[in-house]
Amino acid sequence: MKKIEMKTPLVEMDGDEMTRILWGMIKDKLILPFVELKTEYYDLGLLHRNETEDNVTVEAANATKKYGVAVKCATITPNKQRMEEYPELTQMWKSPNGTIRAILDGTVFRTPICIDSVKPVVKNWQAPITIARHAYGDVYKAVEMHTAVPGEAKLVFTGDDGTEETVSVQRVDGPAVWQGSHNKESSIRSFAKACFQYAIDLKQDLWFSTKDTISKVYDGRFKAIFEEEFEAYRAKFEELGIEYFYTLIDDAVARVIRSKGGFIWACKNYDGDVMSDMVSTAFGSLAMMTSVLVSPDGKYEYEAAHGTVTRHYYKYLKGEETSTNPMATIFAWSGALRKRGELDGICELVDFADKLENACFDTLNSGYMTKDLTLLAEPGTEVHPVNSGEFLDIIAGRLRESLGA
Ligand code: NAP
Ligand code: MG
Repeated sequence: MKKIEMKTPLVEMDGDEMTRILWGMIKDKLILPFVELKTEYYDLGLLHRNETEDNVTVEAANATKKYGVAVKCATITPNKQRMEEYPELTQMWKSPNGTIRAILDGTVFRTPICIDSVKPVVKNWQAPITIARHAYGDVYKAVEMHTAVPGEAKLVFTGDDGTEETVSVQRVDGPAVWQGSHNKESSIRSFAKACFQYAIDLKQDLWFSTKDTISKVYDGRFKAIFEEEFEAYRAKFEELGIEYFYTLIDDAVARVIRSKGGFIWACKNYDGDVMSDMVSTAFGSLAMMTSVLVSPDGKYEYEAAHGTVTRHYYKYLKGEETSTNPMATIFAWSGALRKRGELDGICELVDFADKLENACFDTLNSGYMTKDLTLLAEPGTEVHPVNSGEFLDIIAGRLRESLGA
């Protein structure tokens, strides 16, 4: 078979620990034999971020802006314990995902990979539910206060033009707790655009929920901005036969549970934090959750939702066999290659991405799975537990067959 040619490079962001090991294996076994892979490579491994004073992360994000499509391996976000583990670190570098998200002004969409042998806890869910979480502001950027005596709190806004607006929060007769939170219209607008854009990409309905009956101004503004931004996408939605649907968060929760799945649910920051854990757990496993960062102007960064799987990495370093699930990382590659194919008009690349994903599904459906999935498999499923390398080899065999290579 002649390898599939690419036009524009993918932005490739390598990462850390077990997922870095999987990264190399996936490329060697599933991509390089079939695709004349063109990438612009950025090493976001922790030590290289440290050597470049984290400039490599910024460069990788800017390259994503330039080329439009990136694929990223999971990376370590250093904390106190990591500072001890890696004494050469000159700073507790910020989360690369946070840096990239800020530069792209993007929204993260998380989608479970559904397979026959692992059924969602919610039995009427037949198709994946994608959660879009707004990643700026609200309680995550709030200021808080605990007061001890009776009194009154006021919210004061001082405009740069000298105007001032004041509202009384509450008068209290004893100790109290207080919180001041905000959001920016520009951020809400970017969030809305990314959601509408992604709904068009997936050809799926978009749901958005807030609590605007109670929070009439704050959540009311979210609702209004979504309605305003929708106007630019309305015709495309109608053409595709998809719907934008707004409802209250409590109504949304009830409808989601009763639904068949197969839509995107846009959530405010806190709702998205909570609901994405609920939805992903109900679908099965973090190892089967994909993630894509979409910017309002249509740039895409694909990755797995899980981390670097540290515990497996330390077993691997000791020479022990590991059965780490590479599915989400494979789907990051297939997602990125498919998008590159669509943007560059390379049908073979789109077809390759489909066949790669189908080879994964065939492998899992015939019972070959990593150990995390064997524990979740429906009773009666014939399971053959395999290690990561064996799993990738079986997928590669099936892929080769379906490509006629
Ligand atoms: P994690 O890497 O997601 O792993 C937590 C546990 O989940 C693992 O120990 C494993 O359970 C299971 N697991 C996750 N992915 C799996 C897979 N592909 N196959 C099999 N089992 C899997 O989270 P963490 O251990 O909390 O974080 C490790 C590092 O990842 C941290 O340094 C963190 O900063 C980083 N992180 C990065 C990203 C990102 O780059 N997007 C996201 C989250 C975390 P068992 O051990 O029980 O098998
Ligand atoms: Mg959370």
